[in-house]
Amino acid sequence: MDNQKKYVIPFTGLKEGKHVFVFTENEEFFDAYNYDYVENVKFTATVNLHKMSTMMILDLILTGHYTAQCDRCGDDLIQDFENEDRLFFKFGEGESDDETIVFLDQSEYEINFADYIYEYFVTSVVLSHIHQEGDCNKEVLKRIEELRVKDIENESNPMWDKLKGLKK
Ligand SMILES: [Zn+2]
Repeated sequence: MDNQKKYVIPFTGLKEGKHVFVFTENEEFFDAYNYDYVENVKFTATVNLHKMSTMMILDLILTGHYTAQCDRCGDDLIQDFENEDRLFFKFGEGESDDETIVFLDQSEYEINFADYIYEYFVTSVVLSHIHQEGDCNKEVLKRIEELRVKDIENESNPMWDKLKGLKK
């Protein structure tokens, strides 16, 4: 995972204060994660790390775009995303139910930010992708509408069936 190496920050060597790391990536980043739900991903991850004597505060800003299929017409659409999150890394042993708090005991000396960036990206992917009104593939929409009308025509009309029943 050579590509991931640059994400591994040996935090013990950092001076107290603020540090900024900026990573710009395409979808090769996801090779390590078997992630292929969306395509053509491009993102910039800005990692703001504030180191103090007892903890570090991580502010992660993730911006970019990816390609997904429209749920209405099936054509590609480009989805922008922007996500900002904060994590606390506390030095020492401990446990927390709060998933924004991570404890780093004495044996730890580096953090792989790729994993955090990956998680934030996954939560940035919206569940439903639909073109803006008017941007859908009109040919496809027309065909879907035609099929829908045909379906209704083929459906038996319960009222009509009832009348037929009475006639018998
Ligand atoms: Zn569409």
